[in-house]
Amino acid sequence: MQTTPGDSSRGTAPAKTRPEVSVVVPVFNEEASLPTLFARLYGALDRLGTSYECVFIDDGSRDRSVALLRAQQQARPAETRVVLFQRNFGQHAAILAGFEFATGDVVVTLDADLQNPPEEIPRLLEAARAGHDYVGTVRRGRKDHWARKWMSKAINIVRDRTTQIRITDQGCMLRAYSRAVVEAVNASPEVNTFIPALAYLYAREPAEIEVAHEPRRAGESKYSLYKLIRLNFDLITGFTAVPLQLFSMLGMGISAIAGVFVVYLAVRRLIHGPEVQGVFTLFGIDFFLVGLALFGIGLIGEYVGRIYEQVRGRPRYMIAAVLDSTGARATELARQSGREAAREASDV
Ligand code: UDP
Ligand code: MG
Repeated sequence: MQTTPGDSSRGTAPAKTRPEVSVVVPVFNEEASLPTLFARLYGALDRLGTSYECVFIDDGSRDRSVALLRAQQQARPAETRVVLFQRNFGQHAAILAGFEFATGDVVVTLDADLQNPPEEIPRLLEAARAGHDYVGTVRRGRKDHWARKWMSKAINIVRDRTTQIRITDQGCMLRAYSRAVVEAVNASPEVNTFIPALAYLYAREPAEIEVAHEPRRAGESKYSLYKLIRLNFDLITGFTAVPLQLFSMLGMGISAIAGVFVVYLAVRRLIHGPEVQGVFTLFGIDFFLVGLALFGIGLIGEYVGRIYEQVRGRPRYMIAAVLDSTGARATELARQSGREAAREASDV
């Protein structure tokens, strides 16, 4: 990967005025979607008739995504910034980087696979202009596998019951955030997070609108079952300790019931002598309790593991290069956040 600084105008470029809208797009092996995305996204933004920028974060793609992003940056240098990660750090880390490099008054996040139609951006902007600092979305007729929809529903219920976050459809990434909310997210040091939930915590006037949803037309979902489970644990562990408290209460309840049960069995033993009836029931109950105990240990592990990652304090992501036309902003941000961001001008 090229890391040679090559911006001759660095430091002399006039300060660019802040665009009204920044669109942040995480990209991971999306070569099949990018050409259509560029056409539809820039088309929709050009029709808006306002100033905008697109910030693409390549999350360690191994296909032609980087080449396509580079070409797009050269085709539309004034409106395009591309941040290249050194390797895959995950969608939410990519969005965090996008937030750091976005300069707009309103920041819209969008998936690269076109499941979120870019044509909905004007409606998000309308709600933002009406004074909402957080514009959430609900997918109308979500076009995903039934198992994904079922899992989302279950996690939605858990999240709703255990956290302060009141969002109807947490999984939809097509959202708009005010600059103040984005700055608050940028100031949050969490290693593992779930952006729509974190941003919601900082919103003063949140709103929700319905948006269209499309099936993924090219490529495959970048979420394996393992990644999906991890992400949902990020959502719960990052925002509440209620599951741990529920577990301690459950433990207390079960201990109390078990205590009564032991006394009952002891009395039966004294009255009837040794008995074999009920052995299988006891095994059933025992396996269930062992399972529950293992789940509890695992749950604690999910929290402890995240605390461990947090205290190690390693960077949430590493940037290999930033491609943009001015240079000044990206270099300044890289310096502020203590990371080395090699810089490439758009004409390199
Ligand atoms: N993505 C990413 N890093 C990852 C996984 C996903 O940047 O490790 C991006 C991906 O390229 C897409 C968005 O995040 O732009 C959503 O991913 P995907 O469509 O695979 O998720 P799904 O719609 O299946 O939830
Ligand atoms: Mg998708």
